[in-house]
Amino acid sequence: MQDFPASLLDGYRSFMAGRYARERTQYRELAESGQTPDTMIIACCDSRSAPESIFDAGPGELFVLRNVANLVPPFQPDANQHGTSAAIEFAVNGLKIRNIVVMGHGRCGGIQAALDPTSRPLASGDFIGKWMSMLAAPAEQVSQYTALTAKERQTALERLSVRNSIANLRSFPYVAELEATGELTLHGAWFDISSGELWILDKASGDFSRPED
Ligand SMILES: [Zn+2]
Repeated sequence: MQDFPASLLDGYRSFMAGRYARERTQYRELAESGQTPDTMIIACCDSRSAPESIFDAGPGELFVLRNVANLVPPFQPDANQHGTSAAIEFAVNGLKIRNIVVMGHGRCGGIQAALDPTSRPLASGDFIGKWMSMLAAPAEQVSQYTALTAKERQTALERLSVRNSIANLRSFPYVAELEATGELTLHGAWFDISSGELWILDKASGDFSRPED
């Protein structure tokens, strides 16, 4: 107990005195009725890109999945354990959410590593390398854009990867079916940590642009 990080305890006390005190009724109602969020956000684990902060969301509003580099693997029903796919299955078929947003972000360490030919595994199991290998083809493609700076290539792959994840979402049969009937909508976004800008994927063109005010 004593080695529990003091900063977390401080934050918790502040949460109880502030937000929880203000939203007590909402928390109690949600505890009774269960969660019914409309939107799932798939974001990176990066500590600077927290969806609840960026979208100013309260309890019960967002069903959030975070993983390294906000990737969605293809639908792969086999004997392995698929954490991301399990969350998608629950969000779509259990919670019946209406929107899935894949949100990439600037300065993503996972994406940077995918573009860095000198990056080495952090451990012998190399979970990160295997996880990021689903981006091998787009990373290879972007690496060839030598007219771009390294930073521009990284932004390009961060955004390309969002489109890749949306394509992979469509490989889940129930996602494709519900999207076809209009019951589920897939979205892409990219958050610039340094400026706070949010860029939205235009589904028709594949480009990202700033939302209108
Ligand atoms: Zn990231």
